[in-house]
Amino acid sequence: MSQKVTILGSTGSIGRQSLEVIAACGMEAAALAANSDVKRMEEQARQFRPKLAALMDEAAAADLRVRLADTDVRVVSGEAGVLEAAAFPGADTAIAAIVGMAGLRPTLTAIREGKRIGLANKETLVCAGPLVLEEARDYGARILPVDSEHSALFQCLEGCKDRREIKRLILTCSGGPFYGRSAEELSGVTKEDALRHPNWSMGAKITIDSATLMNKGLEVIEAMHLYRMPPEKISVLIHRESIIHSLVEYCDNAMIAQMGAPDMRLPIQYALTWPKRVSGGPSKPLDLWNCGTLSFGEPDLETFRCLALALESAKRGGTAGAILNGANEAAVGQFLAGKIGFLEIADRVERAISQVPVVQDPGLSDILEADRAAREAVR
Ligand code: NDP
Ligand code: MG
Repeated sequence: MSQKVTILGSTGSIGRQSLEVIAACGMEAAALAANSDVKRMEEQARQFRPKLAALMDEAAAADLRVRLADTDVRVVSGEAGVLEAAAFPGADTAIAAIVGMAGLRPTLTAIREGKRIGLANKETLVCAGPLVLEEARDYGARILPVDSEHSALFQCLEGCKDRREIKRLILTCSGGPFYGRSAEELSGVTKEDALRHPNWSMGAKITIDSATLMNKGLEVIEAMHLYRMPPEKISVLIHRESIIHSLVEYCDNAMIAQMGAPDMRLPIQYALTWPKRVSGGPSKPLDLWNCGTLSFGEPDLETFRCLALALESAKRGGTAGAILNGANEAAVGQFLAGKIGFLEIADRVERAISQVPVVQDPGLSDILEADRAAREAVR
């Protein structure tokens, strides 16, 4: 069980919910890191009194230093500052909740200190899964999933004594705000439409990924690495209500599901308290008696091409994940900036995939190069 926790990405959706869990469970926030949100970082530092607060943005960090001059919180800046927070010796656990590829180095740094990692940053595993997991093994860092589907799979696998008994992993998918629409109907959707998720309140990037279903594609690759399963043994199931968070189907056809209210604070808490379960956390109980009907269906791979592109990349292996992810981050950035339409996200990703060559058994430099080339292909 965690006691002292560093939160990488503390000002974001997962970071803020992690702080709620830490407060409710009597844990300590040892170090906090974020990009540039000075105001929120100041509030968090005053409330949680970490030993260290890091901001990637130099000007924001200088501002924070002035704002926190009357406290004993040490403020550090730039990539070196964020990495110092990741390695902070006063923490036994790091929650990896920086969004995107930017989270890779900080996560690797925390791994190399042998910390427990509560992993929210799925892009890290999509780009560099084998490398991250090998380092975790070498340095004795335990990775506990925070992503709700992967936390569900982890819980459904806890009773499994022989991996050969697993028939497949089933990732549930809400379908996002545009479920049931045709490509024609999607051509004119706006950023505001796409940012309105039916079941979850999350950061902007993952909310767009949930609208294109790229999020589910990234999660298939994340599950493939975390649970060492080939992509053909991972299925996606549309489940609009987000009550069943994922399932494992075993060889005797038994299916084990994990259920709960759609609330990220539950998987965050389990990553922090495992192997124990504790009461008194901030998440709400699921009222099955009043939650209505649960529905299930097939994803529409023709309309939601990002999911199909991700499934293809899962099969290709090597740097295909880094190319997919880099292209998607760049394309989502362009969509959020109002430069391209919703359907063009998949077009750009597809273009990058067809242009950038895949390297098998990549090292870190191959992964960084694949990411760079994919972003360039999108631009
Ligand atoms: P947000 O956009 O809400 O937060 C991102 C956080 O990362 C912020 O604290 C931001 O700081 C920080 N950040 C961004 N770039 C850098 C950088 N270069 N260096 C240091 N800090 C940086 O994202 P979410 O919390 O929604 O998502 C975080 C991760 O968790 C993503 O990988 C996402 O896929 C994953 N995840 C999220 C879920 C959710 O429910 N939100 C569910 C499952 C997974 P600042 O605020 O200063 O910009
Ligand atoms: Mg998820």
